[in-house]
Amino acid sequence: GMSADAPDKITPMLRQYLDIKARHSEGLLLFQMGDFYELFFQDAQTAAQDLNIALTSRSRAEEEAIPMAGFPLHAAEVYISRLLEQGHRLVICDQVETPAQAKGLVRREVTRILTRGVIVDPDKLAAKEANFLAAAIWQGRKWGIALAELSTGDFRLTEGQNLEAMWEELYRLRPVELLLPNSCQTEDFSVSFAWLNPSPSLQYRSGEDFHLEAATRRLQRHLGTLFLDGFGLAGYSLGLQAAGAILCYLEENRTGTPRHLTSLIPYAQSDYLGLDEATIRNLEIFENFRTRSRPNSLLDIVDSTQTPMGGRKLAQWLRYPLKQLTAIQERLAVVSFYKEQSLLRQKWRDLLKGLVDLERLTARIVLEQATPRDLIALKNSLAQLPALRCLLPPELPPLAANLAAELEDLTDVHDAIKAALRPEPPLSIKEGGIFQEGYNTELDELISLTRRDKDWIARLEAREKELTGIGSLKVRYNKVFGYYLEVSKANLHLVPEYFIRKQTLVNAERFITAELKEYESRLLGAEEARKDLELQLFQELRRQIGQEAARLKKVADALATLDVLAALADIAARRQYACPRLQEGRGIRIVQGRHPVIEQVLPPGGFVPNDIDLNDRATLMIVTGPNMAGKSTILRQVALIALMAQIGSFVPAAAADIGVVDRIFTRVGAVDDIGRGQSTFLVEMHETANILHQATPRSLVVLDEIGRGTSTFDGLSLAWAVAEYLHDLAGEGVLTLFATHYHELTALSRLKPRVHNLQVAVAEASGDIVFLHQLRPGAANKSYGIQVARLAGVPAPVIARAQEVLENIEAGTLDQVGFPRLARPRRRLPVGDVGQLGLFASPEQSSS
Ligand code: ADP
Repeated sequence: GMSADAPDKITPMLRQYLDIKARHSEGLLLFQMGDFYELFFQDAQTAAQDLNIALTSRSRAEEEAIPMAGFPLHAAEVYISRLLEQGHRLVICDQVETPAQAKGLVRREVTRILTRGVIVDPDKLAAKEANFLAAAIWQGRKWGIALAELSTGDFRLTEGQNLEAMWEELYRLRPVELLLPNSCQTEDFSVSFAWLNPSPSLQYRSGEDFHLEAATRRLQRHLGTLFLDGFGLAGYSLGLQAAGAILCYLEENRTGTPRHLTSLIPYAQSDYLGLDEATIRNLEIFENFRTRSRPNSLLDIVDSTQTPMGGRKLAQWLRYPLKQLTAIQERLAVVSFYKEQSLLRQKWRDLLKGLVDLERLTARIVLEQATPRDLIALKNSLAQLPALRCLLPPELPPLAANLAAELEDLTDVHDAIKAALRPEPPLSIKEGGIFQEGYNTELDELISLTRRDKDWIARLEAREKELTGIGSLKVRYNKVFGYYLEVSKANLHLVPEYFIRKQTLVNAERFITAELKEYESRLLGAEEARKDLELQLFQELRRQIGQEAARLKKVADALATLDVLAALADIAARRQYACPRLQEGRGIRIVQGRHPVIEQVLPPGGFVPNDIDLNDRATLMIVTGPNMAGKSTILRQVALIALMAQIGSFVPAAAADIGVVDRIFTRVGAVDDIGRGQSTFLVEMHETANILHQATPRSLVVLDEIGRGTSTFDGLSLAWAVAEYLHDLAGEGVLTLFATHYHELTALSRLKPRVHNLQVAVAEASGDIVFLHQLRPGAANKSYGIQVARLAGVPAPVIARAQEVLENIEAGTLDQVGFPRLARPRRRLPVGDVGQLGLFASPEQSSS
């Protein structure tokens, strides 16, 4: 335990440690001891395990040893990153005076509190990924979420009326850190987030941080406004409470005043295409399903942005596809323009490539963490702006023209840096050598003073040589003695009286003189003064540039958007994508559509394109075909094409007409969901229930093999009823693609007017099957399970036996519903209005 048992036996340093730990009990305390950060007690055990470093002990003679672990300061950032990645909160306690200055124990203070959500250091962040710090609070069914991206200055909030939507929003945002009020700590939310990779670190905060009045006051103070209404925040409450909790948290973390969170922007979930957690996962929008990482995700495949801020913007667009027709068309117009103007596009993209991450750099400037080299990088990027502007011709489509108008040159900022800093300043802000001559008269004087004294010391060497006759006499400098005169052994007899001996070496001796020391102290004093002045001037310059954060952000944002639009054009041109025609009416018609990711994985020309036509007369497609035929691929491809169209991208097809959809739902049966510790079937049904509750006639629903996780009869019955429900919804039906291995389901096309059957074709060649990946009308009449098993390498005797069993079954040991007699239905099937046809017609009968 941490308790300070028997305080009289405790060393002063340990007492200091325990005091600080008592004030900052949450998280790991990194305690600077000379060149190391040390952790003690439980913290040491945690760090040793998570960092895989040695657990040692600091012995207290009288008592049991104290566990201790640590790492050197020079490598600290690497260890700190790793601890942050694992979700730790780090309280960093530094020595704030040198041992020489200290009277007794060195003073130590907590200088930073780091968590994943407050990182702004680019070395610790993925360049193209957002790093959201979010807060959530709910009352009854109402909820509010606020989010801050500290590394870019993004600050937003939203509210809603039901908790499912809150979870959905959190899943969609994937915050790295989530603040929740203490009062909800009773529930274990870490389970809810377990599948997120990385799962957010949860921080439970005092309910007071979320108080509406306090939050409002805090926001008013921070935004410098009396009325939040000006930000469109009238009527918000839970969202404001969450935003207040974020500000409160940031104050406590002392990462610097987040002045770059200049505005708090409300948004409505309903303005965007709905994407729930399962859909984001199933469509592999941000992560490949198997690897749970970015390669071979949709984002990865369509991202050819040239700047980090463009990369993040594209991810944001995919996270929030649009629903408003005109907004989508505005984007498409720019993509079309850039696709046509390939030369212009190429030049534009070449220029963008050299730009720094203006957004994150601006944040570091505001947070007073930017170095002189950062400012030089900013200057060099700003120097490109006039050239970039020249590449924005007057005939740009309206959206791009508006962005071009935002793109000011920022010459004042550029010139201010240029006039101040040397082109290649040092990394540190404490060592001087940062500023140009002529920038500040006081600094110039100090510089010329040091130069004069240096010259004088150099001249002293020549003079002393002459006076003493020691030809090899040298003036040298080191950190211990400062300036000294070195005389070789052979010449020691020539050393005059006024030389004061300081050190004897093997071949030489070192001396100082009173005169040398006098100039030295003047010189060092001036150098010290110069360093101090440069530090102060740099901080002033950084603050001054920080004042322009809003302008810098605007430019960064315009560049990011234009980067994304040109990048989408680049992909469209390279891969023969077509411009989707969007419309208010309902329907998805795709000619020669392809799956954007699988197409890229296969060798060129390897992907077989397919058509699909969902419309008011054909809302429900039942897709059958053997395993591996390509059912899942076609289903996802349709959803991905709709999604891409609604971010304003061209699509992998020869042509596409897309009636704007309000939500995309996908459910995939029988997938491992071990990560969530729930039965697969339960999860699947939970997700299915969610669809049935929320789908509207304007939704797109993709169901892949649902019902698989239970007995055949249960599964089929459920699949049947779900299909009927989706077909009948609101008298119009929902646009649905339904892939199934229950061939019986194809009978639905006879009973329901808007149901159509599609099959993914295979060819049979001497007992083997060949996958054609072609979608055709009608229902598959064979499942080819045994052939597929053979292809998969199941041993020949097993295949032969399976063939035998199948033949026996087909030879008449089947009951009239098409199942082996052995498997009896356990309960009556919900056949509804199937009538005489019978639910389970034989395959011959049912193919339409
Ligand atoms: P199913 O869902 O019918 O079991 P999948 O959709 O998973 O089959 O497809 C299996 C594999 O077949 C895919 O991984 C892909 O390699 C290939 N494939 C699917 N569709 C196509 C296509 N249209 N063109 C070429 N290959 C395809």
